[in-house]
Amino acid sequence: MTTLLITDSVFLDHLTPAGHPERPERMRAIGRALDDVAFANLRRESAPPAPIEAAMLAHPEDYVRLIEGASPETGFRFLDNDTSMSPGSLLAALSAIGSAQRAVDAVIGREVANAFVACRPPGHHAERATAMGFCLFNTIAIAARHAQVAHGLKRIAILDWDVHHGNGTQDIFWENRDVLFISSHEMPLYPGSGAEHETGTHGMIHNVPLMAGTDGAMFRAIYEAKVFPRLEAHQPELILISAGFDAHRRDPLANLRLEAEDFAWVTSRVMEIAARTCGGRIVSLLEGGYDLEGLASSVAAHVRELMRG
Ligand SMILES: [Zn+2]
Repeated sequence: MTTLLITDSVFLDHLTPAGHPERPERMRAIGRALDDVAFANLRRESAPPAPIEAAMLAHPEDYVRLIEGASPETGFRFLDNDTSMSPGSLLAALSAIGSAQRAVDAVIGREVANAFVACRPPGHHAERATAMGFCLFNTIAIAARHAQVAHGLKRIAILDWDVHHGNGTQDIFWENRDVLFISSHEMPLYPGSGAEHETGTHGMIHNVPLMAGTDGAMFRAIYEAKVFPRLEAHQPELILISAGFDAHRRDPLANLRLEAEDFAWVTSRVMEIAARTCGGRIVSLLEGGYDLEGLASSVAAHVRELMRG
C-alpha cells in the first residue's frame, strides 16, 4: 500500500495580508519539494470541498454560520488581529475539511497505508466558537469526529507537534472520554495555554511543554519519556497528527531547534506505535511552519517516512 497525498491549488486562494507568515508560498514550497522523483509513488488526489455542515462536527452551528457570513467579496475581513478571511478563504477551509475526511476514509478503508494532507488555513487554534491564530475551523478535530461518526471508531489519538499549543483541539475535546489529545509545544509562547496541569475533565488532554532552545536530542528524549508511552497506552484505533513544522530551527515564530531529520524520526516512531495498535493507520494534516526552506525539507522528511509504511 502507498501513501495518499491530498493537496490542491484551492489552498493558494486563501490570501493573507502582506507580510503575514501564513501565506500561499508555503503551499508552493511544499509542492516543489514533493515534486521530487523520490515521491513518484505517492497516490495524489485533489481536495474535495466539504459541505459547510461538516464544520458542525466540531463547532456550534451559530459559529459556523458566523464564519460563512464573514466571507468577504473583496479584500480582507479580520476575525482577530492575525486571523483574517479573503474571498477564497471559506472554500479553502472547507476543502481542508473535505480533504481530511477523504484521508480518513481512504486510510480506514485500507485504500492506502496512511495519508498526508497539505492544506491551509491551519486549524488547531480554532476553538469551539473562536477563530484565532490563523485558524477558522479545527480541521483535525473534525477529522476525529468524522472517524467516529462515519466509521464507528471510538478511541482516537491526536498528536500535535506544532510548536504552538493546540488550544482549539484541547477546547473541543476537553470534556470527551475517547479522544486522547497530546500536544508538545514551546512554552511560554502563543497562545499561552498548554500547561501540564490542563488535563481535561476525563484526563484525555496530555500537554508536554518544551523550553525555548530544545534541540533534537532533548525533543527525542522527552517524546520517549512522556509522549510515546501515553500514546501507546491509549491503544488508538486511528492516529491523527497535527503536523506543524514550526519547531524547526529556522522558523521565525518560535525558538526550538529541530531539524528535518527530527521530524523523520518522530514520524517513524509514531508509525511503529501505529503498527502495533491500529494497523498503521495514520492521517497527518499540515498545521504551521513558516520558514519556507525549513517547512519544505521537514515535510519532505515526514512524507518520506510515511511512504515506508
Ligand atoms: Zn504553530
